[in-house]
Amino acid sequence: MPQTPPTARTDATLDPDDWNEFRVLAHRMVDDSLEFLRTLPDRPAWTPLPADVRAALASERVPHEPQGEAPVYEEFLARVLPWSNGSRSPQFFGWVQGNGTPLGMMADMLASGMNAHMAGFNDAPRVVEERVIGWLAELMGFPATSGGLLMSGGTMANYLGLAVARHAKAGYDVRTHGALGGPRLTVYASTEIHSWAHKCLELLGLGHASLRRVAVDDDFRIDVAALRATIAADRAAGLRPICIIGTAGTVNSGATDDLGALADLAADEDLWFHVDGAFGALARLSPTLAPVVHGMERADSLAFDLHKWGFLPFEIACVLVRDAEAQRAAFSLTPSYLRDEGRGVIAGGLTFADRGPELTRGFKALKAWMSFKAHGVDAIGAVIEQNVMQARAFAERIAQVPSVEISAPVALNIAVWRWVPRGFSDAQCDALNRELLLRIQESGLAVPSGSMVKGRYVIRTCITNHRTRWQDLERFADGIAPLAQAIEAEMRAGS
Ligand SMILES: *Cc1c(COP(=O)(O)O)cnc(C)c1O
Repeated sequence: MPQTPPTARTDATLDPDDWNEFRVLAHRMVDDSLEFLRTLPDRPAWTPLPADVRAALASERVPHEPQGEAPVYEEFLARVLPWSNGSRSPQFFGWVQGNGTPLGMMADMLASGMNAHMAGFNDAPRVVEERVIGWLAELMGFPATSGGLLMSGGTMANYLGLAVARHAKAGYDVRTHGALGGPRLTVYASTEIHSWAHKCLELLGLGHASLRRVAVDDDFRIDVAALRATIAADRAAGLRPICIIGTAGTVNSGATDDLGALADLAADEDLWFHVDGAFGALARLSPTLAPVVHGMERADSLAFDLHKWGFLPFEIACVLVRDAEAQRAAFSLTPSYLRDEGRGVIAGGLTFADRGPELTRGFKALKAWMSFKAHGVDAIGAVIEQNVMQARAFAERIAQVPSVEISAPVALNIAVWRWVPRGFSDAQCDALNRELLLRIQESGLAVPSGSMVKGRYVIRTCITNHRTRWQDLERFADGIAPLAQAIEAEMRAGS
C-alpha cells in the first residue's frame, strides 16, 4: 500500500482506525492473558523455546510495512506468550523472582494508558507515588519524613542508596570531583553479598576494589569482629571507609546479618549504614517473621524489591533514605526549562527527578497502590509467611530421602540441598547435581536454580511464589529421586 507523503494536513496518527474493532481485540487480549494465568497449574513449569519459534523471532527484518494489530497479536500468542522462563508457574523456585499478579498486570495496563510522566508533576500520579513511598517507609519502620524512590529493581535501588552514601560520607564534593577528590573510599559487606555491589561500585567510580568482603560465620552472617578489624586496618592504611552494607536475606541461603550490631558499628565509626533487603526486607510484613530482620529499621538507606516477595509484576523496587535531604543533595539539579513556577503543571517541582538519576519514569506506583489497597498489606505478609513455612517443610520432607543432604540452615524461604550418593567424591557430586538441576528444569518438573555453598554445587529451592501450594512442593519432592537415581546409574556405568 503506497503511503501518502506527510503534509501539515494529512492528520496521520497511531491511534486505531476503528476504535470498536480495537476494543474487541483488546478485550480478547485481557481474556487470553487471564485464561493463561488461570491454567498455569496445568502447564509444565518451563518448556524450552522451540528452535523454529526462536528462528522465526530472531530472523525477522525491520517491519516497515503495517501488519495490523490482530495478526501481530496472533503471533504474540503463538510465539511469545508460552515461552517465558517459568516465573509465572507455581513450580518456579529459581533465583529470587516473583510471579506477578492479575491485578498487577491490569494496573500496569492502566498506568501505561495514563502514560504519566513520573519526574514529578502537579498531578494525581505524583501523590500516589509519594503515598506508596510513605506507606513503605511506615511498614519498614522508617520515619514519616524519610525520602525514597521507586526504582526498576533491587540493583538500581541499592545503587541509589550507595550513591547517597558516597555523597554524604566522602568528605569532599563528589558531585564536582567524582571519586578523584581524596583517598580511596571503601564499602564493607559480607562475602555473601549479591553481585549488584560489585557492579555498582564500578558505576560509582569507586572501582570494585573498594568493596571489602568480610568473612561469614557458620550461619552465613557477617563476622562483625572481622568487619571491625578490616575497617581499622583500612583506616590505618589511609583509605576512607564510608559505608557498611548489611543484607536482609542473602541470595544464596536467605541468611540475615546481625543488623542491630551493624547499626551500632556504623554509628561508632560514623559510617553510612545501608541494608540490601531485596527480598528479605518484606519479611517485616509478617509479625511472626519481623524479628528476623530486626535492626533493619535503623539503616540510613534500605533497598528492596516489590517484584520479588511483593509479588508485583516486573519491574518495581523501592529505596528508602532516612534523611530525605541527603538524597536530594546527592541528585537535585534543576535546569531553567524545568523551573517550578509555583502554579501550573510543574508546581511543586520535579520531586522524583531530584531524588535520583532518572528524569522520565513510568507510573510503577500504581500497581503497588492498587495491590496494597485491594489485597491489604497483611494478606501479602501472610503469603510471605506461608512461603517460609513451605521452605522449612520442603527441607524436612526431602531430608527424609536417602542421599539428599541439606546444605545450609533454612533461615527464611530458601532450601539448599544436594544429592550425595554413597562413594561419590565431592567433584562427582558437583557434576551429578549440575546435571540433576538441568533435568529438573528440562523435564518441566520445576524450576529451581543452582549455586555454590561452601565451595560445593547445590540446588536452591527459593520460594517467593504466591501460587505455590503444598501439593506442588510434594510433586517436586517426589520427582527428584527418579531423575537423580538415573544420573547416578549413568555415572556409575560410565566410570
Ligand atoms: C535479586 C536481588 C538483588 C537484585 O535485585 P534485582 O531486582 O534483580 O535488580 C539484590 N540483592 C539480593 C539479595 C537479591 O536477592
